[in-house]
Amino acid sequence: MEESIEGARLHTAEHMFARALQEQGLDIHVRKADTYREDDIGKVYIKEIIPFEKITLAEKRVNEKILENLAVKEENFENLDEATKNNPKLRFNEDRLDKEKEVRVISIGDYDFSACKHLHVKQTKEIVMFTVKRISYLGGETEIEFLAGTYALMFLMQIKNQVINAAMERHFIPEKILDYIKNENERTNELEKEEKEIFYRILEENPQVILLKEVKISKFYGELNYFIKNNPEKCVNITNGKQIIILKGKDCTKDLQSFGEKIKGLGFAGNVTDNSINGKIDETKLKEVMDLWKA
Ligand SMILES: [Zn+2]
Repeated sequence: MEESIEGARLHTAEHMFARALQEQGLDIHVRKADTYREDDIGKVYIKEIIPFEKITLAEKRVNEKILENLAVKEENFENLDEATKNNPKLRFNEDRLDKEKEVRVISIGDYDFSACKHLHVKQTKEIVMFTVKRISYLGGETEIEFLAGTYALMFLMQIKNQVINAAMERHFIPEKILDYIKNENERTNELEKEEKEIFYRILEENPQVILLKEVKISKFYGELNYFIKNNPEKCVNITNGKQIIILKGKDCTKDLQSFGEKIKGLGFAGNVTDNSINGKIDETKLKEVMDLWKA
């Protein structure tokens, strides 16, 4: 695949980004880097967990180096030994390098030296800007997506405008988005707590069958268990029309197994044990299911 200027921007930035992470004392092991495959988006897979703060610090550092407009040069060496002798700070990927073959070293000012075959910019200002787009921690690894050049600018503008738009609609100051989210989360938590308290009171008043349409009923699992523990002679049946959860107290005599068998005939799909039923029901058969329960 032919390498483009956008790819060169992204890829040269990746060199600096790797250096900026190493500068912070991180011994990173890049499992895979994809900048030379696609033009508009770069990806690195690092075998360690790299904390968010270190990634953002490295991002800042890369942009400082871009502004310094460092010259990017290449030099060929006969083999890896020669290359490392001349460039003690050389970064290279041992797995991907034939030690006996000629090595091309890419230097970015005095900042970074790396063995690489791909296309690079000539001056770091050509990169224009570098930004991290997405970070994910999966399976003990860090996957980082990043952008350079106009893609980075467009991305930042898009994010900024979304924040401004959200701020206008919800009346907060864009710079304080984190405070706003924190407050919202606290409010949501309070509401959820209140909701659970109300639910528990409903349980106490009418534990037979509770129909809560359009509500995600699994969130009340804790309350249901607690209620059954406190009222072992009772059985609770809660449904939103699509899912049904039934829990039986240890002194309750209701036969859940045979009820479970009957509703399977009405389209129920899920788990049935001696003490609980949990699964999907056919919405159109809701009334029949409930009639069966009350029978
Ligand atoms: Zn390179």
